[in-house]
Amino acid sequence: MASIAKKRVKEKADLKTCVYCGRVLPEKPVEVKVKTTTFNVCSDECRLETERYLALDKRFKLPLYIVIMVAAIVTLIIAISGGNMNYSYIMQVAVGIAFVIWPYPVSIFTTFQNNSIQFIVKVTRVVGIILAVFGAILLLFS
Ligand SMILES: [Zn+2]
Repeated sequence: MASIAKKRVKEKADLKTCVYCGRVLPEKPVEVKVKTTTFNVCSDECRLETERYLALDKRFKLPLYIVIMVAAIVTLIIAISGGNMNYSYIMQVAVGIAFVIWPYPVSIFTTFQNNSIQFIVKVTRVVGIILAVFGAILLLFS
């Protein structure tokens, strides 16, 4: 009973936050249309940023996925063949850098109803930095 009530409160709160920055929406939120769904943002600034993000996402999602796929294949080949591990460390650094410059890992836009675009970009970049730094460390000390 209590958990249901809690969930309802959360869903309501989610609808009242800006899809871009995650702040609480004003009385009259600005709308952003993504395909057939309309999302609310808090300001014209956030509307422009959301549109910019979507345009970049469209352009750079494929290169990001290609880098991840190549890295996965190279790592797999090295693991199977017992080849030089340095190549898989280099791939890890490449994937990390790709996440930092192309932070567009999310395919479904409704994800942003729960996590703002700014939050996802930040998390993706932090993950990218961690991957790249650890890859570089492994490379240097192997
Ligand atoms: Zn906002």
